Amino acid sequence: MLKGGCFCGAIRYEADDTPTQATACHCSICRRTSAAPFVAWFTVTPEAFRIVSGQPTRISSSEHATRTFCPACGTPLSFQSARYPDEIDVTICSLDVPEQVPPRSHTWRASGLGWVKLADGIRAYPEKCPE
Ligand SMILES: [Zn+2]
Ligand SMILES: [Zn+2]
Repeated sequence: MLKGGCFCGAIRYEADDTPTQATACHCSICRRTSAAPFVAWFTVTPEAFRIVSGQPTRISSSEHATRTFCPACGTPLSFQSARYPDEIDVTICSLDVPEQVPPRSHTWRASGLGWVKLADGIRAYPEKCPE
């Protein structure tokens, strides 16, 4: 089981599937909503993910997508899109042990920052990862 939560501890979650994807996203919306150069996500089914304490705040980040974060400390937690109803993406770095789920790819690299130089040896896709 994967366990994680926000920085301040108000929100805790669990995920009990093996992630179907793990990718580092370089899109501009991930970047703006996290104020970070890119954001690493793991993907499970919505049924496999549950909030066990606290209440995240939801925002619409595009016409089809919802993101959640902690209203107290701001930690980004999840992403869901109406285009992919069988998936929820969760921020790898909100896990208690982020090393449990290393990213297997980079996505939307074509939108990424020029000063981010990748040297981790994993594949970088210009747009969404085809996995
Ligand atoms: Zn918090
Ligand atoms: Zn993104």
